[in-house]
Amino acid sequence: MKLYNLKDHNETVNFTNAVKLGLGRQQGLFFPVHLPVIDNDELSKILNMDFITRSTEILSYFIDNEISKEKLYNSIKKAFSFSYPIQVPITDNIGCLELFHGPTLAFKDFGARFMAQMILSLNKDNEFFTILTATSGDTGAAVAHAFYGMKNVRVIILYPKGKISELQEKLFCTLGKNIKTISINGSFDDCQKLVKEAFDDKKLKKLIGLNSANSINISRLLAQICYYFEAFSLIPPEYQRKKLVISVPCGNFGNLTAGLLAKSLGLPIKYFIACTNANDTVPRFLQNGIWNPKNTISTISNAMDISQPNNWTRVEELFKRKKWNIKELRFGSVSDDDTITTLKELLTLGYVSEPHAAIAYKLLKNKLQSDEFGLFLGTAHPAKFKNTIEKILKNKITLPDSLKNRINLPLLSYNINPDFKKLKQILLEI
Ligand SMILES: *Cc1c(COP(=O)(O)O)cnc(C)c1O
Repeated sequence: MKLYNLKDHNETVNFTNAVKLGLGRQQGLFFPVHLPVIDNDELSKILNMDFITRSTEILSYFIDNEISKEKLYNSIKKAFSFSYPIQVPITDNIGCLELFHGPTLAFKDFGARFMAQMILSLNKDNEFFTILTATSGDTGAAVAHAFYGMKNVRVIILYPKGKISELQEKLFCTLGKNIKTISINGSFDDCQKLVKEAFDDKKLKKLIGLNSANSINISRLLAQICYYFEAFSLIPPEYQRKKLVISVPCGNFGNLTAGLLAKSLGLPIKYFIACTNANDTVPRFLQNGIWNPKNTISTISNAMDISQPNNWTRVEELFKRKKWNIKELRFGSVSDDDTITTLKELLTLGYVSEPHAAIAYKLLKNKLQSDEFGLFLGTAHPAKFKNTIEKILKNKITLPDSLKNRINLPLLSYNINPDFKKLKQILLEI
């Protein structure tokens, strides 16, 4: 698999290096040189396969012979060793694709776990390395669980003290073993700054074998393509050809990019809806053609509180390469007030949801025609937002076992001020 840097097309790398590097020169994202297309006969065959076999077929279209199918199958089997996506019918022609039945209760488990398997299998010399990453909540947990207990790797996660939910903190700061967590007396931006400083320190980088588990890593995107095919195989057959609409709650736009890559492979999805909260840089851009990110606003759908979405350049590149019209992408943004109303509406339909999925449902319902079938993506388990949802719905949320089992465990985090010298000392000692 060959990929080029979107900021400097002269820089090309293979899949192995794209996974290892994460980003190219000038912080450019990698994008596939070849966009494979699956023909109709092959597509029918693939859709009838089980999830793991099918996912292996799909990813080998991209990765090609750089990793043998057998090896890829084993990696995918380990990565996706949890409950698969479920389609829950909401109305006659709307369903929720629940992607949150993994160990950390968010769709990010798919990408993080596949990336961990890839990094592991690329580490042929069994070198010791350190994954250092900053999180504002969901990514940290997914990465921590993905690498938990693996040999030769140590994961260090920085997070802003007091700015992630208590449940999110319990999920990844109680693990121990090769997962180290450090709460920083500061903001998420302070955490990201410390990570950058560590990567700029060449001596330290070498000494502890520093590596990143960045959210823009191509392996995470590829893994996410797989559940769009699963989604297709789960909807009523009468809607399957040319009538499926998918509504995606967007933050960094990785999930949408993966969906569009599924379409570019030949999966017949009629159109996508790109949904944001009040952080509406993309909807405004699609409306008036002006890219004008504003300051990030805090909302109840906090995983989507991003005003400069990294993956948008990949979305644009794909439309350009496929000669698709960007006007075919539907879009919208939903305020907190409307999100709350929608959560209540979904409850009257018998479905307890959470703010991110509710935004996608709201825009789907507005745009869907009666002869179409719509899926909105359930990106996180409602229990992750227990307090918010209980307040809105006046309903008790029961915690799934993965959370219940951790709630009484002690937090193992270190705590420091945003001071690089102090961080460095800890990195060298633990
Ligand atoms: C990360 C996240 C999103 C946004 O996904 P992107 O791929 O960054 O667009 C939406 N919902 C939840 C719950 C998330 O954790």
